[in-house]
This record gives sequence, structure tokens and C-alpha cells, in this order.
Amino acid sequence: MLNIVLFGPPGSGKGTQAEKLIDKYKLTHVATGDILRDEVDRQTDLGKQAKVIMDAGELVPDNIVIDMIRKKLEEHKGGPGFIFDGFPRTVDQARELRKALSKYDENVSIVISLEVPKEVLMERMLKRGKETGRSDDNEETINNRIDVYERQTVPVTYYYDKKHVHVSVDGVGTIEEIFKRIVKKIEEFETYH
Ligand code: ADP
Repeated sequence: MLNIVLFGPPGSGKGTQAEKLIDKYKLTHVATGDILRDEVDRQTDLGKQAKVIMDAGELVPDNIVIDMIRKKLEEHKGGPGFIFDGFPRTVDQARELRKALSKYDENVSIVISLEVPKEVLMERMLKRGKETGRSDDNEETINNRIDVYERQTVPVTYYYDKKHVHVSVDGVGTIEEIFKRIVKKIEEFETYH
């Protein structure tokens, strides 16, 4: 299986690039933010709890997202692979992902970081907020999401650096340009690993 972790700060374009990678490699999309937003829309108990946390720009508890991941792995095991988008966001989530995949004799093939400067992130998310009405795309929540990313999520890159599966891609440019950079990294990686 090809199991990709698409990594990067909020607004770095993970969702957009995930869609293109799914098209090319026929992977199963696992986007914890999308799954949580679906729970919010359906007004489930979990959705009601998650909404408050998401609107504050904080992270939903690890055990909740890990359960979601386990379910997805079981549903789609034996397929071409997964693309994890917005997960793992803490080192504990990364450790649990490793354990969950090992049950299927699988592991994370590659972690691709999209690098985008803060000013660009801010601009993109404010624009998205205006266009879609996404409730966490307002200036105050965005600032906290970037803060939370730096404090809790960046350490995940050190975890994957140690496992030698982490690569970075310049996330500024057209969607197509960035996609080509990502595909090139995946192909290089498959050749040498
Ligand atoms: P973005 O990457 O633009 O912040 P997401 O859709 O990935 O958007 O996430 C939106 C919100 O959902 C996060 O701010 C967080 O509250 C929650 N969330 C998503 N994924 C996770 C996760 N893996 N762990 C904890 N919380 C998560």
C-alpha cells in the first residue's frame, strides 16, 4: 500500500492536493477535519462536543480522532492505500497511527510537508472564510490554529524525521505546480526506499 501523510499548517492546501493525489493513486482520503465537520452538520453528540473545540481552534482529544482512524483503516484495508490529511496532529496520534497500521503489516510510506509562509496562510483562510462561511476561518480562530499547530503539531515532523520518511515541498505556486512537486517527491521516494 501507499500510505501518505499530507502535512502542513492550516490553510497550506492539504485538502486541495489530497483530492489530486486520490485521483492519481486511487487512495482512500482520511481527513479528520472533514469527518468532524460531518459530525457537526449531523448534530451528533460527538459533533456537538467537537464544534466548541473547533471554533476555538483547539484540538479535539486524541482518543476521538484515533477511533475514527481505526474505523477507516478497517473499512478500507487491502486497498491501494491511504492519504491522511490533517492527521496526525500530535506525536501521540502519530504513535497510535503506527500501531494501528502495524496490525495490517503496513506503515506510513511518506510524510509530505507543504511549506507556506504565515502571511499567505492567513490570506488564504480569510478568503475561504468569506467564500464558504467556515466558522473557524475568522482572524481570531486562525491565529490560535496557527499557534496550536506550532506548539502541538510541528513536533510530529521531528518524529517522522527520525524515521526518515519526512520530505518538504514548497507550497506556494499554482495548484498544478505544487502537485507536480509532490508527485516528484513520491516517485523519488519509491525509487530509493
Ligand atoms: P485546517 O488544517 O485548515 O485547520 P482541518 O479541517 O484539518 O483544517 O481541521 C479543522 C479543526 O478540526 C481543527 O482546528 C481541530 O479542531 C479539528 N481537528 C481536525 N483534525 C484533528 C486531529 N487530527 N486532532 C485533533 N483535532 C483535529
